[in-house]
Amino acid sequence: MTTPEKSYSAVSVRTFERPRNTAGNPARVLEYFGSNVFDLKAMSKRLAAQDVETIARVMKFGGKIDASLAERIASAVKEWSVEKGASHYCHWFQPQTGTAAEKHDAFLWFDKQGNPIERFTGGELLQSEPDASSFPSGGLRATFEARGYTGWDPSSPMFIIEAENGKTLYIPSVFISYHGDALDFKTPLLRSNEALSKEATRTLHLLGEKDVNAVTTTVGPEQEFFLIDKAKGLARPDIMLAGRTVLGRSPAKGQELEDHYFGHIPSRVQAFFSELETEAYKLGIPVKTRHNEVAPHQFELAPIFEGSNIASDHNQLVMKILRQVAARHGFIALLHEKPFAGVNGSGKHVNWSLTDSTGRNLLDPGHTPHENIVFLTFLCATLQGITDNADVLRASIATSGNDHRLGANEAPPAIISAFLGNTLDKILNAIESGDMRNVSAEKVMIDLGVSQLQHVAKDNTDRNRTSPFAFTGNKFEFRAVGSSAPVNYPTAILNAAVVDGLMKVNALLESKLGGGSSRSTVVSPEGILEVLREVARATKKIRFEGNGYGQEWQDEAAARGLSNFPNTPAALAVFADKDKTRFLRDTKVLSGGDVEARLSVQLERYVKQRLIEVNCAIEMTRSAILPAGVRYLRELMQLLRDTNDLGITSPAKRLATHTGEVTNRVETTLTALTTSLEKITAGDALEHEHIMGTATAIASQLLPKMDELREAVDLLESIVPAAQWPYPKYTEMLFGIE
Ligand code: ADP
Ligand code: MG
Repeated sequence: MTTPEKSYSAVSVRTFERPRNTAGNPARVLEYFGSNVFDLKAMSKRLAAQDVETIARVMKFGGKIDASLAERIASAVKEWSVEKGASHYCHWFQPQTGTAAEKHDAFLWFDKQGNPIERFTGGELLQSEPDASSFPSGGLRATFEARGYTGWDPSSPMFIIEAENGKTLYIPSVFISYHGDALDFKTPLLRSNEALSKEATRTLHLLGEKDVNAVTTTVGPEQEFFLIDKAKGLARPDIMLAGRTVLGRSPAKGQELEDHYFGHIPSRVQAFFSELETEAYKLGIPVKTRHNEVAPHQFELAPIFEGSNIASDHNQLVMKILRQVAARHGFIALLHEKPFAGVNGSGKHVNWSLTDSTGRNLLDPGHTPHENIVFLTFLCATLQGITDNADVLRASIATSGNDHRLGANEAPPAIISAFLGNTLDKILNAIESGDMRNVSAEKVMIDLGVSQLQHVAKDNTDRNRTSPFAFTGNKFEFRAVGSSAPVNYPTAILNAAVVDGLMKVNALLESKLGGGSSRSTVVSPEGILEVLREVARATKKIRFEGNGYGQEWQDEAAARGLSNFPNTPAALAVFADKDKTRFLRDTKVLSGGDVEARLSVQLERYVKQRLIEVNCAIEMTRSAILPAGVRYLRELMQLLRDTNDLGITSPAKRLATHTGEVTNRVETTLTALTTSLEKITAGDALEHEHIMGTATAIASQLLPKMDELREAVDLLESIVPAAQWPYPKYTEMLFGIE
C-alpha cells in the first residue's frame, strides 16, 4: 500500500541548449569562456587603451576610479550588456546573511522629449543605496540613520546573469555604512589584501627582494554539496526551511562501503554538472574538477585558483548557479554543512597561498637556498599568525551548520592546528634545535633539503585529512570552513592573522639589520635563520601531525594550551575580547565597532537558525509523526481486540506495547523540548543584550533536548510501517539517483 505522499514523480536526464559558435556548431569551451564577463578583453573593444590600462591596474593593485572614467565605463558596459540582451543592472553584494543580495533596476529612462532611452551613469555604477535597514548590522547603524550603500568593487569584473526570460548586468559591490563600517563579508577581504600586500612586500624587501612591489593572496575553494531528488526534498519541511534534516533514521547502508567516493557519477548528476559547468564557463569561472564525495549523493566541484577576491565572488556565484541548475534537473542542492546525520557533512576547503608581483608563489619551497629561505620565512610568519590568532580564526568559521562538523567527531576538529607533513616538520624541528652558529645559512638549506620539499609534500600519502589547516606542497588548505560559508570572510581573517604574523617577523628581521651609518636594509641569511629559529620555537604548539579525531589530541591540545570551542556561541565570545581582536584593528581589517557588530550579527544568526530547526522538529513531530505513531497504535489495538476475540496467537500485544511506549516517548520528549524552547525564548531573550545568554542556552540546553526527541522519533520510524511514515526516509533521499 502506498499513501499519496509516497509517490514521487520520476525525473529523467535533462538536456539543455549548448552554446553554439558562429558556424552554428556546438562551441568549444574556449569559444565561450568568459563570454558573459565584462573583462579587460571586452573593455578594450569599447574603451580607450589608456582607460583599460588604468582599470587593469586598479584590478590588480587596488586604487580609485575617478568620476569621468566611471562615466565612460558605465556607458561602455551598458552598451555591451544591452547588446547581449540585458535590460536591468544590479549591485551584487554580500550582507552578513551569508547569501548574496541584489536589487535590480532597469536601464530604462526617458529623455527630455519623453522618449524611452537606455541610461546608465557613472554615479549609478559607482554607488547605490539599497534599503539597508533590513540587513543585519549588529546595531552599527542607529535606526534614525538606517543607511548603508553598495559601491562597485572595480577589482572584480561585472558580468551578465541569464535567467529564463531576461538578462541582468551584475556589479560586484561592497556594502558599507555611511561611516565606513563594513556591513558585508567582502569589505574585510579587500582591506586584508591591502594590508597583506604592504606587510609581505616589506618582508620581501628585508629579504633582499627589492623588485617586488605587491603581494596578492590566491584562493582555490573546493565546494562540497549534496544533491537529492527535488520531490523528496519538497516533502520535508526541515529540508525546505533549514536546509538539513532534523529528524530521520540512518539507512541500513551509509558510506561504510566507501563505494561512492570517486565512484561513477550518475548520468542525471553528470547532466547537471555539464550544465553547471557551461554556466560557470560563460561567467569566466574556471571550474576544473568534479567528483563524487564520500557520502552517498555528495559531490564536489573545484576550480583553478584565482586572486582571493575574484575566487570568492566566483564561489558565491557557483553556490547560486549550483542551486538553480540543480532545480532545473529535478534536484535540490544542499549546501548545508550537515544535511544528514550518520554520513559525512560538507566543507569548503579553502586552498590559500601568496603570490608576489613577479609571479612567484611565496609558499613554494623553490630550488635554490635563497628561495628556500624566502619560503621558510613566509611559512613561519603564517604559523605565527595562526598561533597568535587561532581563536578568532575559529570564530570566523563558527556557524550553527559548521558546529556539526567542528568538534563533533568529524573532519576537522574544532581545535585550530597546522599540519606540515613529515619532511617539513623535521626541517622546522632541525632549524629550531640546530646549532648553526658557524654554518652558512645556504649550507643549512642544502643540508636540510628544503628544495626537495615540494616534491615530497605533493605526495598524497603524506596528507592529513583531519587537520583544519594543512600544508599541501605549495599552499595551505583551510579545511575547517563550512560548505555554505562565503570564502571572503574566513580568508579575510586568515589574511589578517598572517599580516599580524608578518609584522612580528618583520620586527625580528629588522632587529637583525646591522647598525651604524652603513646600516644595511637587507638581513643576512644567517640573521634570517636566527629569526626562523625563534619563530619555529614560538609556533611549535600549533603544529600537529597526528590524528585530529581522537580524544588523545583533545587532551594533548588542552595540555598545550590550545583552545577548543565546541560550539558557535563559545567560539564567537572571542569577539568581545579586545586583546584577542587587536590584530583586526591593527591591520585595519575590522574596526572596533565592526568587531562588536559581527559578534551580535553572528550570534543572532546562530539563534535564528537554531530556532528554525527546533521549530521544524516540533512542527513535523506534532503534525505528522506523532499522529502516524498514534494511528499505527490504533491499528495494532484493533488487531489485538480482533485476535483476542478469535483466540488467535499474534504479536499484536507486544507490537502494541512497544509502539505505545515509543510513541509515548516521542510525546514526552516533544513536550520537554517545547517547554525548554518557551523558557529559553521567553521575554526579551532575543534582544540584543541577552543574545549571548540565549545562544548559549540553546547550545547547552535546547539542542540536547532536540537530540532526545530525534532519538525517539527515529526509533518510531523503525516501527511504523514504511508506507505510513509521513516523510521521505534517508534511504529514499540518499540513494537511487542513476
Ligand atoms: P591537491 O590535490 O593538492 O589538493 P589540487 O591541484 O587538486 O591539489 O588543488 C586543490 C585546489 O587548490 C584547486 O582549487 C587548486 O586550484 C588550488 N590551488 C592550487 N595551487 C594554489 C595556490 N597557489 N593558491 C591557492 N590555491 C591553489
Ligand atoms: Mg585538496
